[in-house]
Amino acid sequence: MKQARRLDNAPPYLFVEIEENIKKALAKGVDVINLGIGDPDMPTPYFVVRKMAEAIKNPIYHAYPEYDGCLEFRCAVAEHYKKRFGVDLDPETEVVALLGSKEGIAHIFFALVNEGDFTLVPDPEYPVYELATALTGGVPYHMPLTKENGFFPDLSTIPKEVIKRSKILFVNYPNNPTGAVADLEQFQKLVDFGLEHDIVVCNDNAYSEFTYDGIKAPSILNADNAKEIAVEFHSFSKSYNMTGWRLGFAVGNKEAISKLKKMKNNIDSGVFTAIQIAGIEALKGCEKFVEGMRKIYARRRDIAINELQKLGFEFEVPKGAFYFWIKVPDGYTSKSFADMLLEKTGVVVAPGRGYGEYGEGYIRISLTINDERLKEAFERIRKLGI
Ligand SMILES: *Cc1c(COP(=O)(O)O)cnc(C)c1O
Repeated sequence: MKQARRLDNAPPYLFVEIEENIKKALAKGVDVINLGIGDPDMPTPYFVVRKMAEAIKNPIYHAYPEYDGCLEFRCAVAEHYKKRFGVDLDPETEVVALLGSKEGIAHIFFALVNEGDFTLVPDPEYPVYELATALTGGVPYHMPLTKENGFFPDLSTIPKEVIKRSKILFVNYPNNPTGAVADLEQFQKLVDFGLEHDIVVCNDNAYSEFTYDGIKAPSILNADNAKEIAVEFHSFSKSYNMTGWRLGFAVGNKEAISKLKKMKNNIDSGVFTAIQIAGIEALKGCEKFVEGMRKIYARRRDIAINELQKLGFEFEVPKGAFYFWIKVPDGYTSKSFADMLLEKTGVVVAPGRGYGEYGEGYIRISLTINDERLKEAFERIRKLGI
């Protein structure tokens, strides 16, 4: 059977390949330690599960949900934004519920990008920006994130002809995979750029709650005039260990949000209302819960810093998210190093090349594993003697 041309454009999703390699190793009986995938290893908080158990019994929620999310959920998001970021949002026009943020991220490309248009995406990047661009027939322009530019795009190097034909710019701070965190001044630059060139500026803020050393991540909507051009995506997946629930939201510029809603209304029929009700509970109880999670990741981060230094690896200490972006030793590509590690140690890492051209020469490891297994992974790598 022939597939549609747009699917030919979509490169294979990186994590699918990793999963295949893990399956093969497991079949051989290898004790695999997976530092490759960023899926929190701890359960959803009990107060959220309890609310879900109660909500699912309510027949009102068994019907089709409201397309944009129930008003209660949108109001809770607005309240959360006020409290957490000091940003006012209109729940009617500036908030939409998502079936996980990946869904909304992909669909906003469909809502704004025509065939042949450019999209401005970071490199390395969360692969969805690239894949969604490919599926729309757009052309991704890669903004390099390097150690030299502090893992922040240098807008002055983007060619004028590209800017003219660009519809959307995507960033992701706190950043996966580099661990960089943007400050308000950097967000302001992006917003000013978007306003000057009429390019919708999106920040994927999935890791908003995970920052270290006293840093607090801002929202892009904290920048002046941001609501005229910016949209921000949030996910319950990482903040509240809810990857399997599929819940997120987008907020910001009402025109962009309305176009995203229009796209979604023609494809999905919204998030199960009971899940939204449980999500409200997560937002209400978030401060204390997230504080505890942050401490756990900070402890694992300390372990990784210490072990990586002892092993002589080159890396930046992540300011946010829960990944380490690590230079591979001389003589390896990111793929050959990852393959070698899996084969010789059973440790899975994500090859940086999967996040873009500028990811070549790096691997990403994730802190979503308990202290013992994390230490064991480093111990196995130490025994390799590289
Ligand atoms: C994990 C992750 C998400 C979350 O996706 P969901 O669809 O909400 O589970 C979004 N963006 C980035 C950069 C991520 O790493």
